[in-house]
Amino acid sequence: MAAFLEHALPDVLGADRDWFAGRHTLVVGAGHSAANTLLSLAELAAAELDTEVTWAIRSASPARTYGGGDADALPARGALGSRLREHVDAGRIRLLTGFSVHALTPADGRVAVVVRHADGGEESVVVDRIVAATGFRPDHSIAAELRLDLDPVLGATRALAPLIDPNEHSCGTVPPHGVGDLAHPEAGYYAVGMKSYGCAPTFLMATGYEQVRSVVAALAGDWDTARDVQLDLPETGVCNSNPADSTGTDSCCGPVSAETAGKSLATRCCGS
Ligand SMILES: Cc1cc2nc3c(=O)[nH]c(=O)nc-3n(C[C@H](O)[C@H](O)[C@H](O)COP(=O)(O)OP(=O)(O)OC[C@H]3O[C@@H](n4cnc5c(N)ncnc54)[C@H](O)[C@@H]3O)c2cc1C
Repeated sequence: MAAFLEHALPDVLGADRDWFAGRHTLVVGAGHSAANTLLSLAELAAAELDTEVTWAIRSASPARTYGGGDADALPARGALGSRLREHVDAGRIRLLTGFSVHALTPADGRVAVVVRHADGGEESVVVDRIVAATGFRPDHSIAAELRLDLDPVLGATRALAPLIDPNEHSCGTVPPHGVGDLAHPEAGYYAVGMKSYGCAPTFLMATGYEQVRSVVAALAGDWDTARDVQLDLPETGVCNSNPADSTGTDSCCGPVSAETAGKSLATRCCGS
């Protein structure tokens, strides 16, 4: 099945153009990576005949991906969701909700993506390509011999994990943090940037800049500056949950429903 599958953020309009042109692609996932890929595929479909685009999400509503639109404090992020909504509303992208992939099976040179419903019934969508934009997790193996203290679910430091838990925080509600929350038992070792967040999808570059400033000050021995962490993040955006989505599935950052309360974070947010 690997021949049909691409991971997040392929170069749809560049190096990978021929792989997608004139094909039917299914994009799975509800985050920024899926949104960017879908917008590129819609652009490709406008230029290349017979290119079809289908978007599958687990939740009952795409509202979280559409985000805050004009109200988003990050205009480019708001525009991302608004442009995606336009394509869906115009029928250029077909949206499938409540979609959880159960199996992939060959289908005459194409691939059938099988969904199994709670009542045991199955349905399938036959496509040429699949883009799996279903989450990520950092590779800490390079530091396997060091004494790390990682949250077992998020893969961030144990101190940082509750501050960035995507079921509690959106991108904009993460509290300031620096060297203290990034430290491991291994003296002098810090992971900063996207990797520091483990599989939490709420990282912003502004967060990383403050992490690096704090850690570098500590490494230089200026602990007062290192501990004086400050962060002023923009509110709203795709990380906010959708209250209308009563299923609670894909509720990365918002209240957790009774149905999902017992599931692991990885299932609800970061896993595939
Ligand atoms: C679709 C999408 C849109 C986003 N939009 C925004 C946005 O608008 N604003 C924002 O603030 N954030 C945004 N983000 C989050 C964004 O990814 C981060 O803010 C930023 O890229 C993180 O930078 P980083 O340097 O920490 O990590 P990365 O950008 O992931 O860089 C890590 C680099 O390290 C390299 N690397 C990994 N392991 C090794 C190794 N062993 N040896 C050598 N190199 C290695 C990788 O190849 C990679 O180039 C977005 C993320 C996604 C997925």
